[in-house]
Amino acid sequence: MNSVVNLHFTRFTRKIKNVMKNPPKEPILSEQNTAVPSANSSENGTKKLIVEGTGVVSGLAYAPVAWVRRPEPPSLTGLELPAAEIEDAIEEFKAASDAVVSGLEERAAKSEGDAAEVLKMTAGLARDKAWRKSVVRHIKSGIRPVNAAAKATEEFVALFLKAGGLMAERVTDLRDIRDRVAARLEGRPEPGLPSPTSPVVLLADDLAPVDTAGLNPELFVALATELGGPTSHTAIIARQLGIPCVVAVGKMNMLEEGDMVLLDGGEGTLRLGVDEELAKAQVAADLERREKIAAWSGPAKTKDGHDVQLLANVQDAAASARAAKTEAQGVGLFRTELCFLGTPTEPSIESQANQYRGVFEAFKGHKVVVRTLDSGSDKPVPFATLADEPNPSLGVRGIRTQRINSGLLGNQLEAIKQATEHMDVEPWVMCPMISTLPEAREVAKAIRERGLKAGIMVEVPSTALLIDQFLDEVDFVSIGTNDLTQYVMAADRLSAKLADFTTPWQPAVLNLMARVAEAGVRKGKPVGVCGEAAADPLMACVLVGMGMTSLSMAAGAISAVGAALAEVTLEQCQAAARAVVSAFDDEQAHKTAKAILEIS
Ligand code: PEP
Ligand code: MG
Repeated sequence: MNSVVNLHFTRFTRKIKNVMKNPPKEPILSEQNTAVPSANSSENGTKKLIVEGTGVVSGLAYAPVAWVRRPEPPSLTGLELPAAEIEDAIEEFKAASDAVVSGLEERAAKSEGDAAEVLKMTAGLARDKAWRKSVVRHIKSGIRPVNAAAKATEEFVALFLKAGGLMAERVTDLRDIRDRVAARLEGRPEPGLPSPTSPVVLLADDLAPVDTAGLNPELFVALATELGGPTSHTAIIARQLGIPCVVAVGKMNMLEEGDMVLLDGGEGTLRLGVDEELAKAQVAADLERREKIAAWSGPAKTKDGHDVQLLANVQDAAASARAAKTEAQGVGLFRTELCFLGTPTEPSIESQANQYRGVFEAFKGHKVVVRTLDSGSDKPVPFATLADEPNPSLGVRGIRTQRINSGLLGNQLEAIKQATEHMDVEPWVMCPMISTLPEAREVAKAIRERGLKAGIMVEVPSTALLIDQFLDEVDFVSIGTNDLTQYVMAADRLSAKLADFTTPWQPAVLNLMARVAEAGVRKGKPVGVCGEAAADPLMACVLVGMGMTSLSMAAGAISAVGAALAEVTLEQCQAAARAVVSAFDDEQAHKTAKAILEIS
């Protein structure tokens, strides 16, 4: 389960209070992607068009478009509510919200996995005390319940957008609750999906988590949204269902109900006016690829037998147990900060050790790479994050948290050490956001003093640039491509508008990654990749060609990466790695790798 859906509304109350000090004057409306269609022409009367976004679940689908349009948002004002009706109006609002909560909880009880979690989390939003209080306050001031709910929601939306990061991604969830409560208050059915009788490609400005949680993948064969990012609920659920998905699509309104589109979730495109026979052949070939993935079993090797260690990214014991059921050979990134997102004070060493033990349990006899707290930026850990930083992704995050709480690292290392006692596990420990050699030396000393293998993440360009010296300080490194890309390209990793910058296919990022891998080979030290790049099968082959020794990814991506590696030789991977570093741009790098590796 992606940690994102665990972020309950109420956990942010403290942060919201901080933002409340400077409330925005006007409600902030939905952000729109400004990408433009890359082609729009007419030939023999056939409309031809390609619209582009960010591909988040690979795969092809060819089907007519079905739009899901959200209801018009209720007005923030409306007719004045007579004083005599206020008490009844409050009761009506409470009854409507309770009905929304019950409906969602009932659906959660009938669902499984991520879908159940998403439904439970959304029910939590409709139950949230802070939001309800705010609606009641507006009703008491004489605003009708529908308008009061809209007003309170937009206030929270503004706060969430201002806070940015993961909180900003919850805006769709909030507005969905507003629309559901409004529908109940007005005696209408709650908003939902269309009911097609044959397969469609579903398009929306953004899908509510509750909609995506109920999707039938046989009818909704692909999804595309104008908003959202790779960590939005739409992406999480699409990944779980294996439905090709593109988010942050620009100018999607140019596609009309019933238009036949070819959606490519790997490339991030929707094509209109493609040759029907060709599209069908491509979809069939893609289906074959997906079947190969389903049939793949590890351990991972290239076609000519070069071993590649495939590991899982996890955030808690439950995720670790799920990952252990896949072909993962261990854990390559245990994001410990995600255990503590809602924890107000630093947990005791014993209680931390209990959390870590849960993760180790599932991978007895295997390597587990624990990352020390990466708090700050989009992962606010209350006891280890500075409030009100003007630029948190460039602020006190990751290892820099030591500057505000110097005991954190030592306590965490003690907890990791305790958790490994009497446990047959190979614990490796790495620190995030290392940017200087003295930092690396200091953390390596602290880790080794506890008898643990010492590593650092390569996420900051300064570390990649001086990688030879860094490798002299530590036992291993792991490249965090999400942050490395963000910092190399100076582009916020969560910005839909800059998604073309924040791709690891950018030649500058590829060059730095190759540099780190080559240094690892020279020094005989393991170099892994644990950012999202490792989960892209094509990129995974390139990374192996560069000399990476392990790739760590969401457990759900392991089979696709393993199946891709099984189709290529090490020599092909090396040729692709050599070629991509001199590409002109990300697109050319991607195309070149595809041509050399001959996989999609
Ligand atoms: C990364 O930056 O690539 C990484 C793995 O760390 P996170 O995504 O948790 O910041
Ligand atoms: Mg990172």
